[in-house]
Amino acid sequence: MKFKSTRSNILVEPSEALVKGIADDGGLFVPMEFPEVDLEEILKMNYKQLAFYILKKYFTDFFDEELLHCINNAYDDKFDSPLIAPLVEKGKVSFLELFHGRTLAFKDMALSIFPHLLKVASEKTGVREEIVILTATSGDTGKAALEAFKDVKGVKIIVFYPKEGVSQVQRLQMVTQEGKNTYVVAIEGNFDDAQRAVKEVFNDRGFNRVLKEKGYIFSSANSINIGRLFPQIVYYFYAYITLIRNGSIQKGEGINAAVPTGNFGNILAAYYAKKMGLKINRLICASNQNNVLYDFIKTGVYDVRRKFYTTVSPSMDILVSSNLERYLYDICGNDEELVCRLMNELKSGKYELPEKYKDELKLFYAGYASDEDTKKEIRTVLNELDYLIDPHTAVAYHVYKNYEEETRDDSRTVIVSTASPYKFVKTVYEALTNNNEEKDELTLADNLGKFTGYEVPKAIRELKEKNIIHTRTCSRDGVYRAIEDILNLKG
Ligand SMILES: *Cc1c(COP(=O)(O)O)cnc(C)c1O
Repeated sequence: MKFKSTRSNILVEPSEALVKGIADDGGLFVPMEFPEVDLEEILKMNYKQLAFYILKKYFTDFFDEELLHCINNAYDDKFDSPLIAPLVEKGKVSFLELFHGRTLAFKDMALSIFPHLLKVASEKTGVREEIVILTATSGDTGKAALEAFKDVKGVKIIVFYPKEGVSQVQRLQMVTQEGKNTYVVAIEGNFDDAQRAVKEVFNDRGFNRVLKEKGYIFSSANSINIGRLFPQIVYYFYAYITLIRNGSIQKGEGINAAVPTGNFGNILAAYYAKKMGLKINRLICASNQNNVLYDFIKTGVYDVRRKFYTTVSPSMDILVSSNLERYLYDICGNDEELVCRLMNELKSGKYELPEKYKDELKLFYAGYASDEDTKKEIRTVLNELDYLIDPHTAVAYHVYKNYEEETRDDSRTVIVSTASPYKFVKTVYEALTNNNEEKDELTLADNLGKFTGYEVPKAIRELKEKNIIHTRTCSRDGVYRAIEDILNLKG
């Protein structure tokens, strides 16, 4: 298997695509083809076996032992369910729980394997330097990456998080991070400031040269890396075979998937699964108030020139969904010139898909939920289905309900459940009790546990006992200094 850039004819081996993350022309790497999955072969597999079966089709320059090593080190007892991605069936809908990893959100599904893939790939491509993972986070990614790269040899990880804008649980999760190779820095400012500062360092050629002389190279754990995207295909097939095993669907029966969407990574993995033969009828693309994707799917026009909202589903507060580029490339028949033109237009804020491709968008049903809708669904699902969901999952459920009402489609629908309700406990507790007085999230977690009878996850309970390890802060312009200090570049 070779990977190709969405913007030119650059072709690379899987390992090189993993190490590079992004192509030299700024494009994203896409596979040259989508191998078929044989349903009969995978029916009896467990999660690890299925991950091996699917990832082997893409990471073709890995030896079997190498890939097995990655998988065995990723999907182990770090997950608090031996199933890794359990499916909770409630009537016509099934919730695919992707939050059983260490950080209680779905980023763990790919980030737990990514460091191992990166390690093997960098050895294969002859990288000699120590890898420095540099990440700006709005909450979930940073912690998942820290946890994933902790104590991985030959790697250091530095995470910048905005002082304003992460929840108390998210902050505590990061500042108590263990591991000799982990560094966490609070930046004065919001997520955009942190993101911009880190991007600047990343693209600074002079600084990269200095780094290289000292024996380091930068890499990112960004969601556009193929090592983040392809492991996500696995759980869609896993959900399907689980439904068959449970007798909830027949072999070959079509299902829908409702996905709470931000960067378009998770839902793109579902789209890729469909291209590999998974029987998906409709893909339900769920947004919050930041509904750029909703407008795009309705009209074919992508327009980011709008107000940015901070919502109760913060991991979806995104205006530019970077993985959408891969989808565009696919529906326009791999036309890299068109992709270049659209991405260029996006720099000034807007592009329009050519008329002849707009029909393709009908595979998706798009919708969005306001904060009020989101909280209402958290209540409804607990009352009617006796099931506790987080705000991101509630957005997906809301859009699914609208879809069902509009279309009367009664196919089995998988609601992709991306976070534990305890990770966003403030919103969940307030939605259920209308009480917003208590500010301490760890106390709230206890209260929520008592109120709903759903056990507080160990990862939250432990936070109380953990020591604060990381106290570093920096100003908006202090990112260089912080990195120089951490890597001891001046010493
Ligand atoms: C990242 C994230 C999303 C959005 O996923 P994308 O792949 O960016 O579309 C949704 N929910 C949670 C909890 C997340 O952390």
